[in-house]
Amino acid sequence: MIPSAFDYRRASSLDEAISMLAEGGEDAKLLAGGHSLLPLMKLRLASPSVLIDIGGVRDLSYVRDAGDHIAVGALTRHLDVHESEVLRSEVPVLAHVAGQIGDPQVRHRGTIGGSLAHGDPASDLPAVCLALRATFVLRGPGGERQVPAADFFTGFLETALARDEVLTEIRFPKMREAGWSFQKFGLRAQDWAIVGVVAVRNGHTGVALVNMADTPVLASAVEAAVAGGASAAEAAEHASDGLDPPHDVRSSREYRRHLAQVLVRRALEESGV
Ligand code: FAD
Repeated sequence: MIPSAFDYRRASSLDEAISMLAEGGEDAKLLAGGHSLLPLMKLRLASPSVLIDIGGVRDLSYVRDAGDHIAVGALTRHLDVHESEVLRSEVPVLAHVAGQIGDPQVRHRGTIGGSLAHGDPASDLPAVCLALRATFVLRGPGGERQVPAADFFTGFLETALARDEVLTEIRFPKMREAGWSFQKFGLRAQDWAIVGVVAVRNGHTGVALVNMADTPVLASAVEAAVAGGASAAEAAEHASDGLDPPHDVRSSREYRRHLAQVLVRRALEESGV
């Protein structure tokens, strides 16, 4: 439970964090809320030689109405996402899901950018980004680039972020009156989802799954079925098509497949399919 020795550096600006990443070499890691990285370090599943603390870069903590989308700074904490009046009005599914993450301690420390950059298939916020077709803004020494959520999660705990890049902002389309639903099945209120589903009806019907693959994942077969005129029950039968869900102490693969079907049906019905 004691991490390997590491150097600790504190960045006071985004530019400083990018320079420190470049100087830190292969093993440098950013530290945001620390709620995913520090447990990995204590278990020695991660042993960065340098930790670059970006928790003090407060100008990366914001929610802004940018006209055609809502921009959320990567260091915005889950609690601030949950309580944002702008998000409650314009992207209510995001505000709601942020309020279902872990417990109050986790929501006070964890950041939206840390959750997405971690790329854990069991996390809830990646599913919101996938279902809503959000866009991620990444900044590195070569400048800024934008990556659609569907291209961001590349493998188990792996993302499109280069070693020297920082996730700075996430852009969400406005939802206005769009229907939505979040279904999270766990044994206790503050637990990670055994399976979760986010559905939105925002021009398209977007459906994404939590803990059903080795990455956060879209339920593409469900989306195609709905687009083809299927009912919620018919579309839900395709919930785990093409997916190989994990099996662990909390659930077998078969139980996850069953849960996905039940939860996708509920999510589609609640969101208005
Ligand atoms: P950190 O732990 O600081 O960083 C995570 C990773 O992202 C690191 O690799 C870091 O280098 C990288 N990183 C951080 N910020 C950036 C950035 N801006 N740019 C590039 N890389 C970056 N999550 C859920 O979704 N649902 C839950 O129910 C849930 N329950 C939890 C319960 C407990 C007890 C705990 C400890 C965590 C839980 N979490 C849950 C995870 C929580 O949401 C974390 O806060 C989140 O996953 C990571 O955010 P962080 O800011 O703590 O990131």
